[in-house]
Amino acid sequence: MSDDFFPVPEAWATGSLMDRATRDADYARSIETPHDYWLERAQRLDWITPPTLTNESSFAEADFGVKWFADGVLNVSVNCVDRHLAQRADQTAILWEPDSPDAQPRRYSYAQLHAEVSRFANVLKAAGAKKGDRITVYMPMIPEAAFALLACARIGAVHSVVFGGFSPDALAGRIQDCDSNIVITADEGRRGGKTVPLKVNVDAALAHCPSVKKVVVVKATGGAVMMQDGRDLWLHEETAKVSADCPPEPMNAEDPLFILYTSGSTGKPKGVLHTTGGYLLWAALTHELCFDYRPGDIYWCAADIGWVTGHSYIVYGPLANGATTLMYEGVPNYPTASRIWDVVDRHQVQTLFTAPTALRALMKEGDDFVTRTSRASLRLLGTVGEPINPEAWRWYHGVVGEGRCPIIDTWWQTETGGAMIAPTPGATDLKPGSATFPMPGVVPQIVDGEGQVLDGATEGNLVIAQSWPGQMRTVWGDHERFFQTYFTTFPGKYTTGDGARRDADGYYWITGRVDDVINVSGHRMGTAEVESALVLHESVAEAAVVGFPHDIKGQGIYAYVTLNSGEEATDDLRATLVKWVRTEIGPIATPDVIQFAPGLPKTRSGKIMRRILRKIAEGDVSAQALGDTSTLADPSVVDNLVANRQK
Ligand code: ATP
Ligand code: MG
Repeated sequence: MSDDFFPVPEAWATGSLMDRATRDADYARSIETPHDYWLERAQRLDWITPPTLTNESSFAEADFGVKWFADGVLNVSVNCVDRHLAQRADQTAILWEPDSPDAQPRRYSYAQLHAEVSRFANVLKAAGAKKGDRITVYMPMIPEAAFALLACARIGAVHSVVFGGFSPDALAGRIQDCDSNIVITADEGRRGGKTVPLKVNVDAALAHCPSVKKVVVVKATGGAVMMQDGRDLWLHEETAKVSADCPPEPMNAEDPLFILYTSGSTGKPKGVLHTTGGYLLWAALTHELCFDYRPGDIYWCAADIGWVTGHSYIVYGPLANGATTLMYEGVPNYPTASRIWDVVDRHQVQTLFTAPTALRALMKEGDDFVTRTSRASLRLLGTVGEPINPEAWRWYHGVVGEGRCPIIDTWWQTETGGAMIAPTPGATDLKPGSATFPMPGVVPQIVDGEGQVLDGATEGNLVIAQSWPGQMRTVWGDHERFFQTYFTTFPGKYTTGDGARRDADGYYWITGRVDDVINVSGHRMGTAEVESALVLHESVAEAAVVGFPHDIKGQGIYAYVTLNSGEEATDDLRATLVKWVRTEIGPIATPDVIQFAPGLPKTRSGKIMRRILRKIAEGDVSAQALGDTSTLADPSVVDNLVANRQK
């Protein structure tokens, strides 16, 4: 791991939201006087009844539960839309960039957003939606997806967004799990120049979902679709029939806001439930602290609304803060690997927030695609989703940001609602690959296998010692699974499932999933470390490392390596890479096996599904061993890996 230091740049040292001293004082107050701190922080929201209660959570079995601001009443859509009308009715709330660079962007001011959301909410009501109903949203990345979420929030319905790339089966499973009565979709989606048959998929899914009574369909591409009489409604026809006035539903802070299924990297997706007050406060506060949003900024989170990042940092956080949030319909490399940077230039984006997987994919295509664009407007760069290897960090910082933009590496999970460990741009000196320090109220600890808290510079399991406002409240329909999954491994603490290292300066480094720590001849190492070393080699685009049973060493190191475009997979290169890792990390990290892989098995959210790689490395390739692969972006990748297994 690199210990290079990147101090807060000049431009951020003054005039930013927090400097080092204010950040430290703020964090200390959040821990020392949490009740006062959170009552004060809660004032950033508009409450119908302001809360007098704050944290009433317990992680102990006897009185287990997560509860915040439980006597407060508010409405999320009012906080994200209505309350901005007095100050910034004409400011752009949502700026939409279409898939094709030749199509026209769309802009919605806060006033227009208010009308769209209110009408949409009235359409849902007319379709029979009531407070507490679950509404499944299966949409492309178009503004109507954001309207749909806010419309649900306005009437107190609980949305469950299913990523538009999922199959009919995956969609049906998620509809059934939460028993939705309404589905919101579009005729088709557009991604990377291709159309996605969303309505056709919904029709197929609904053959197995008797709970669904109405389907609201957005006309997005105009492609021909079947509309079932009595069930399917065109949004544009229905909005013409309803008023643009929809009184918001008063919601208790602990009323459900949404269900979102985790990405399924480690097993069957869990229906994570977030509630109204704590979640919104957490999304808004962390959006402000991490990105230091300033009025007039164009802020772009290039995630999909199907993931929690899209919920918290495209929709709820930025809109609660009155920001201009850019929403992009397409993919990073269409029509060329310059697209992200072209969009930055086209809309003069200040803040860009994306994932390491996208960065590695773009890095592989070479710097020219970046350097031929201006990017002069960029001030801040963010990342989320996986550990960012120092090589990608440096590329993001040096090539994309030309050294002037802090890299905000945010560690968090669907379960946490928003960023948990992340830099604050005006306050935090950066180290490439480290997510740095906890957000206010977050108490990370590193524990050993027995749950013993380890102090100082150390490495082990990352747990969170006490509740924070954005914490998930339950697994939908399975409260016992919630408790069992997160609170029994290390009783009294929230188990993240991730490993972490804390260095002598107190910086946190996420080492990957705890399952991905390997033990070679008694030496524990994170697979991420070996991967970072491999990716550092000029021929390597991406690497995934897993352990496999080894007679002598206990565990051996099996590396799957994707080469850069144009590189040839030879035995010579294999030997070179083995030597390379030996020199980069040490003989202990010598890969036993290197398998060249044209592609790695990734979830739809772009994360490598290491459990599958582990099974292949172990030689256990039965369907049962490979398990649920329905959340893979391209299941055929697995066949190739199995066929080309080494050893
Ligand atoms: P599942 O829980 O269904 O297996 P998942 O964990 O991939 O899926 P998410 O909630 O989308 O579902 O991802 C959270 C996980 O992503 C974290 O636990 C961590 O492993 C990883 N992660 C996210 N951001 C970072 C980051 N900045 N650095 C390191 N790891 C990260
Ligand atoms: Mg997880």
